[in-house]
Amino acid sequence: MKDQPPYKKDLRLIGGGHSHVTVIKQLGMKPIAGIRVTLISHDTHTPYSGMLPGLIAGHYNFEDCHIDLRKLCQWAGIQFIRSEVMHLDPITKKIICHHYPSLRYDLLSINTGSQPALNKIKGANQYGHAVKPVKQFLHDWHQWLEKTTSPTDPQHIVVVGGGAAGVEILLAMYFKLHQRTTIKARFTLISADQQILATHNQRVRNFFQDHMHSLDITIIHNKHVISIDENQLTFNDNSILNYDFVAWAISAGAQSWPQESGLRCDNSGFIQVDQYLRSISHPDIFAVGDSAAFTPTPLPKAGVYAVRQGPILAKNLCAALQQRTLKPFKPQQHFLSLLTTGGRHAVASKGALFTSGKWVWYWKNHIDRAFMTRFNPAPMVLSKKIKNDENNIMRCGGCGAKVGSGILEQVLSQLDIPSSHDVVSLQKDDAAIINPPIGKQWLQSVDFFRSFIDDPYLLGQIAAIHSLGDIYAMGGTPHSALVTAIIPYGDQPIMQETLLHLMQGVMKTLTEESTALIGGHSGEGPELAVGLTVNGILKPGSALTKSGLKPGDSLILTKPIGSGVLLAANMAAQCRGDWLDQALKYLLQSNRPAAEIFRAYAVQSCTDITGFGLLGHLQEMLLASNCSASITLDAVPLMDGAEWCNAQGVQSSLFSANKQAIRCQQYTGQHPAYALLFDPQTAGGLLAGVSAEQADDCIQALKETGYTAAKIGVVSAQNTDTLITFIEH
Ligand SMILES: Cc1cc2nc3c(=O)[nH]c(=O)nc-3n(C[C@H](O)[C@H](O)[C@H](O)COP(=O)(O)OP(=O)(O)OC[C@H]3O[C@@H](n4cnc5c(N)ncnc54)[C@H](O)[C@@H]3O)c2cc1C
Repeated sequence: MKDQPPYKKDLRLIGGGHSHVTVIKQLGMKPIAGIRVTLISHDTHTPYSGMLPGLIAGHYNFEDCHIDLRKLCQWAGIQFIRSEVMHLDPITKKIICHHYPSLRYDLLSINTGSQPALNKIKGANQYGHAVKPVKQFLHDWHQWLEKTTSPTDPQHIVVVGGGAAGVEILLAMYFKLHQRTTIKARFTLISADQQILATHNQRVRNFFQDHMHSLDITIIHNKHVISIDENQLTFNDNSILNYDFVAWAISAGAQSWPQESGLRCDNSGFIQVDQYLRSISHPDIFAVGDSAAFTPTPLPKAGVYAVRQGPILAKNLCAALQQRTLKPFKPQQHFLSLLTTGGRHAVASKGALFTSGKWVWYWKNHIDRAFMTRFNPAPMVLSKKIKNDENNIMRCGGCGAKVGSGILEQVLSQLDIPSSHDVVSLQKDDAAIINPPIGKQWLQSVDFFRSFIDDPYLLGQIAAIHSLGDIYAMGGTPHSALVTAIIPYGDQPIMQETLLHLMQGVMKTLTEESTALIGGHSGEGPELAVGLTVNGILKPGSALTKSGLKPGDSLILTKPIGSGVLLAANMAAQCRGDWLDQALKYLLQSNRPAAEIFRAYAVQSCTDITGFGLLGHLQEMLLASNCSASITLDAVPLMDGAEWCNAQGVQSSLFSANKQAIRCQQYTGQHPAYALLFDPQTAGGLLAGVSAEQADDCIQALKETGYTAAKIGVVSAQNTDTLITFIEH
């Protein structure tokens, strides 16, 4: 018997909006047995809209107002897939993603927000900057600020949209420019309505009108922008307005894929839902926040509704999975809005209520920060106990633990396995028959991994890159590979999808590396795992061995180190999502171009940095070459966040064993790179000895190919006392 019951159903959440973060948190505290939950989001960090004006004004930094979805999901035990959903097939229950294999669902929830409806204005998709997606807006705004450090002429900043978002963004930009930059600018707000802030009471409107007049901000009422070009906006009365920066904060528009996928939508393309937040056309799909159109009376597009819908959605998703009665969402008629005025000052508006002052800003700040704290996993206590139930049946070991032949056949039929002229027989026979290439030597290596990331497609890619590293480190060319896969227990469709995604990931790498898949074995187990046996070929006498280092050689490393500590921190939900995103980019970087460059620079000795850490693998080279080496700690490239995680006491499980195995100088300094020299690496870079004369050119070539390569030390004649010494600078 195993602890976790097998997965029976897939609950998939699209978009990490304000409601889904509550669902994730609640499911983290109280998981449902047998349900695999996945968040698909194209951003690792989701913004909390209420704090965005404060971010633009400079009162907050990025972390203050963004929820780290990757970290939150890791804490909650929820699968995080970073991808953009492009389409749904509600008949086969498939989610079609950008650059990611399609995903199945039993129950689906959509919380993908909205974006200003730019299609209504000619040229708006090309010119100006929509306030959402927020990530893009912040990028564009910061780029513009950098470009416009000290212009000779005053700049004209125009915000189109007289609702709360437009007014707050404009005042935040005004504050930023006047208080924190030398840029001279004038501002214009354009409202298509008779008045700005049309949904607020007259006292609120008067306050903002007066405030903007006092700041010399022009307000244009009752005019529609009908088109935009590089320099000017054109209005419905044919008048024009020149601009230097335009922000679009116009009414919310929907993404096109829900309607194109056949979900019943309103005239603007928002998914129509009933009082239970369930699609009126597809009861196995829920939709919330801006992406939904509540029936019979649609709600304003405001984050406050998305936030309030979160707990009801969480209850209803659990109820739908367990065939219990759903709870209706009862929207409130008036809600409190706290609108900021640029500085640390705000206005409270609810129905006919109006009040303002600095205290309102501090009150809002307190509410917003308290909201954000709820989604920062660090102080949360993990309380995950899934009781065994009748689903938790006895699973066999031995040959009975093989993945069923039905699953395997289905998966293989969906994979595009290229043939290789050297492989005579594949798949149908008991073993692959290979014609060894004449005149070549055969290289073989094997690696095996327990899942270090809850994403089988990524795991498959990285495992293959890691395994092929051994062939490249030897100066060989990959030829073929065999895969061993362990798939977590579950119902057939779920296991089938996991195996398919894992194999699609493996195949993506193998295809890019021109390596044939010639066989494999798959089994069930308590957790996802994958191993690859890789074959390579080599011209006799051309191997790059560990024994080829020579005194005077420069030691060149092609990728930063730190993946071990980052992955360990991620397991404990302590790793920032953007650090992991960056680490994954390094892990997905092939060692092939680096090996080719090393060959071009007549390298004799090379290895790939994996489980024994940088020093462990360097020690192997030094012992084999009868040499010693000195490492410059400042020069060792580190992955972002590795130093922080290490300082928090996070360590990968192999760390201590690695440290004990090294014969290096007793180092008593405090340099942050030192500890990471023992950190085990997954899909690490290559380490090679390059002649001193060629080293700079070789590094340049590696950098031009996209590597973060560095000369990290020098090889010396053997020192019998100490194999490896350190200098800090
Ligand atoms: C400057 C500004 C200030 C605002 N201030 C307030 C305020 O103070 N109070 C208030 O109530 N409202 C405010 N709003 C409105 C508020 O932003 C929206 O109503 C709110 O964000 C909607 O929340 P949501 O949960 O529906 O979606 P969002 O918060 O927009 O989240 C959607 C998420 O889905 C992801 N996503 C989108 N499409 C896909 C896809 N196809 N595949 C995968 N992932 C996807 C996005 O990356 C994002 O993480 C403000 C808006 C702006 C622009």
